[in-house]
Amino acid sequence: ALMARLDRLLANLGYGSRKEVQALVAAGKVVLDGKPLKDAGLRIAVDATLPERMTIRGVAVDPPAPLVLMMHKPLGVVCSHKEDGEKIYDLLPRRWRLRDPALSTVGRLDKETSGLILITDDGDFLHRVISPKRHVPKTYLARLDRPLSGSEGETFAAGTLMLEGEEKPLLPARLEIVDERTARLTITEGRYHQVRRMFAAVGNHVTDLHRERIGRLVLPDDLEPGQHRILPAGEAETVF
Ligand code: URA
Repeated sequence: ALMARLDRLLANLGYGSRKEVQALVAAGKVVLDGKPLKDAGLRIAVDATLPERMTIRGVAVDPPAPLVLMMHKPLGVVCSHKEDGEKIYDLLPRRWRLRDPALSTVGRLDKETSGLILITDDGDFLHRVISPKRHVPKTYLARLDRPLSGSEGETFAAGTLMLEGEEKPLLPARLEIVDERTARLTITEGRYHQVRRMFAAVGNHVTDLHRERIGRLVLPDDLEPGQHRILPAGEAETVF
């Protein structure tokens, strides 16, 4: 198992500066396997079972890296740290902003798109999901301004559609018509505003956009907008 100094581990989980977490340990607030720890320099084994074994002030410690969580992104929050407005990270526990390695979204959804997004501190996992070589499929439910003509499915499946200002045609995408103004679209790329621009390219306009699925991971019905769920070790791999 990966070994880490207790004070370093807790500081990296956002519980405070090295000094602060040393004080927490000295005060007997850090308990492992039922026993208060005395030595902030103790080296301990760090794995996904840690929250079952360690408490801080009586509460299970946060899961250590590598951490992957799914969130139901609500409308109106941004995925980028730089953009103005409420950040998706503000919906997570405060302490998590101080985690090192930092959490980051796996790709992005527009401010006005809702639905499934993954958030992780595992750079290797992040890059595998968004890698253009892997073609991880993403499924969106789009509500449209105008009735579908019926020919969009063929256009999107052809692998010849060009988006404005781009030089490479889009890879084939799968369209499923839900009703006159609602469609489910599965794409395997992640170009900027891709779904909105695809419908714009066929003379329509997306009014509501929601991501239902990434690879084999589906947004659970009981995960409300703004809520997140930590994926158990291994479950994140079911994306692929
Ligand atoms: N396509 C879009 O247009 N917006 C998103 O947020 C995701 C895919």
